[in-house]
Amino acid sequence: MRKHIVAGNWKMNKNFSEADDLINQLVEKLESTDLGDTQLIICPPALYIELASDQSDESYFMVGAQDVSEHDNGAYTGEISADMLENMAIDYCIVGHSERRAYHHETDEQIARKVDQLLKHDLRPIVCCGEVLEEREANKQFEVVKRQIVDGLFHLTAEQFADIVIAYEPVWAIGTGKTATPEQAQEMHAYIRSLIAEKYGAEVADNTSILYGGSCKPSNAKELFANPDVDGGLIGGASLKADDFLAIAQSF
Ligand code: PEP
Repeated sequence: MRKHIVAGNWKMNKNFSEADDLINQLVEKLESTDLGDTQLIICPPALYIELASDQSDESYFMVGAQDVSEHDNGAYTGEISADMLENMAIDYCIVGHSERRAYHHETDEQIARKVDQLLKHDLRPIVCCGEVLEEREANKQFEVVKRQIVDGLFHLTAEQFADIVIAYEPVWAIGTGKTATPEQAQEMHAYIRSLIAEKYGAEVADNTSILYGGSCKPSNAKELFANPDVDGGLIGGASLKADDFLAIAQSF
């Protein structure tokens, strides 16, 4: 059966001592926090991955990166390869976040190549999808998400797909304080699961964790996570405070 996952995307936040402080707070609080079967993941900026993965051995969270290069290695200034990430002893990597799609013009084809790189290096991709406000207002959300899933992921074999985590993040809800209603989240998550079932069969679809992202906080996590197809959350702003992040992780 699929896992409950709560992953924190720190984005470009925290200087070194603030990052160290947040990781220490998480480690300390996790000693007395029961997360049940929920897998906690933190995705700090790449510079702090080692800081986080050094602590993750002794405590209860896993570590992910926020992005990866679509290339193997070589003359790509500023980029980080999957090979390098694999050497940092991490487990997950976010790909196709809407901020990468918007500000770095990432296409579904590039996202597909990043997914391939990660799988080649035994890292689990957390693949983001989601429509912008104009697309929802034009009732195109299903069409957009289907294109992102099909073009970004459906070149994989069923065996490869077993390592994929999907995050549905309506772009109009990211960092805006506007959350999708539990009904909107459930409707899209069930739709994504039906696409996976059609392509790979019911067992693969049932085993795929589909996370919700977009202004998820302690006050709304319970009603979002209560939906049968919502398997957890990808959390931005609220992952920057240990208490809020852990309260969300305890919302199942
Ligand atoms: C995100 O960026 O993945 C996200 C969900 O952000 P926030 O929780 O701040 O809306």
